[in-house]
Amino acid sequence: MSVRVRFAPSPTGSLHVGNARTALFNWLFARKHGGGLILRIEDTDRERSRPEWEAAILEDLRWLGLHWDEGPDVGGDAGPYRQSERLEAYQAAVDRLMGEGKAYFCFCSPEALEAQRQDRLARGLPPRYDGRCRSLPAEEVRQRRGAGEASAVRFVMPRERITVHDHVKGEIRFLGSDLDDFVLLRADGSPSYNLAAALDDCRMGITLVIRGDDHLANTPRQMALARALGWEPPQFAHLPLIHGSDGAPLSKRHGAVSVAEHRAAGILPEGLVNYLALLGWSPPAGRDEVMDLPTLSGLFTLDRVSRSPAKFDPERLAWFNRQHLRRLPTGQLLAFMEPADDLTERAARLLHKEVDSLVALKRAIAEIRSEPELESLDLPATAESALLQLRGALVVQGRLESEEDAQRILAHAARDLAPDGRRVLMRAARLALIGKPDGPPVATLLWILGAERAKQRVENALKGCVAP
Ligand code: GLU
Repeated sequence: MSVRVRFAPSPTGSLHVGNARTALFNWLFARKHGGGLILRIEDTDRERSRPEWEAAILEDLRWLGLHWDEGPDVGGDAGPYRQSERLEAYQAAVDRLMGEGKAYFCFCSPEALEAQRQDRLARGLPPRYDGRCRSLPAEEVRQRRGAGEASAVRFVMPRERITVHDHVKGEIRFLGSDLDDFVLLRADGSPSYNLAAALDDCRMGITLVIRGDDHLANTPRQMALARALGWEPPQFAHLPLIHGSDGAPLSKRHGAVSVAEHRAAGILPEGLVNYLALLGWSPPAGRDEVMDLPTLSGLFTLDRVSRSPAKFDPERLAWFNRQHLRRLPTGQLLAFMEPADDLTERAARLLHKEVDSLVALKRAIAEIRSEPELESLDLPATAESALLQLRGALVVQGRLESEEDAQRILAHAARDLAPDGRRVLMRAARLALIGKPDGPPVATLLWILGAERAKQRVENALKGCVAP
């Protein structure tokens, strides 16, 4: 049977890096095995689901380079791929379970359930639904429903042993008697996550469910439900969670947690994907850790996925981003930059190896482009003669078409200076060229600015040296 995996986001917010990692591992597994990746939108929560979030999630996945074979936008034989468009199938499954005595109406209100929960906690029992509506007489059920009383539908959880052969965590045993009769249809008629996910995984022919560890408790429920409906459930692989630096699950209080935030901060998709791949997975020994998607998919295996949580480290992400920024051909880099002129091109070519992100690169280029303000130049008295030397060298040497030309101009300007004077020259030159004493090497600045701009900025700075 060919491999079919799925990524099943709920469109209730922007794509979290943890979910992006789940999408990535599914993608890698599908590509490695020549299988299919299905994108399924789990939008049964009517209150919180929004089409804008769905569109944003799809865009983030595309930006990461994780394309899917079937989904709401591309179609496929197992559609529709939005759960809100599959409601009839869920209802039919529930009708069938009802007919077979494997599901029942539950009239417990949220308040009654909460009271039950508290009562069980007080008696030292696990706080779960106690199944009291399971044995209501059929006549009473008919009457109460006839009178319009709200009711959910619950699944009769079989009291049997359920074993998950997890591809990451190994064998995990559950006892059906430890699990409650979970909700299939809510009182408003909408399907629960467990019903929709379990049924869809079967009907869409999913062979392996790769998802976060936080769903492990749902797995025996979904397996039991699939079997009650006559399906053989898929296999499972649960990925370790991603934690923040304090060991708590990664959340907003740890900083940027969505793909969109990282994208806005200038992280490249290549850098993010590379870093996410290594959150909970390790490449075979001896492999360089800097990898692109094709390399990752060639190497990826679930047996190298860790069982313990992975720690999200923004500095390590920045390091990976820098590695990919360095490798990015200038042509591609320029697509992110504007205006597309000579200054941008020279600056991008020279500086992209020095920065952590596209945003930092843009900022560095903008800083070089903007004219230093004369008033804020804090030029020492000795700067004037140094700048006069530099201006002279720019005029005499004329050509400035490479970084070597810039080196030659600087050497010319500094040829009669003692080491102290050279330091003054470099400081004054930076102040004159970009308005601050630190930054890229002066030769780099000269070459990025070009002869005309450089000369004009030195002239301006010289005006500032004249005593008021
Ligand atoms: N919609 C669920 C979520 O976003 C997916 C869970 C699953 O993969 O089964 O957490």
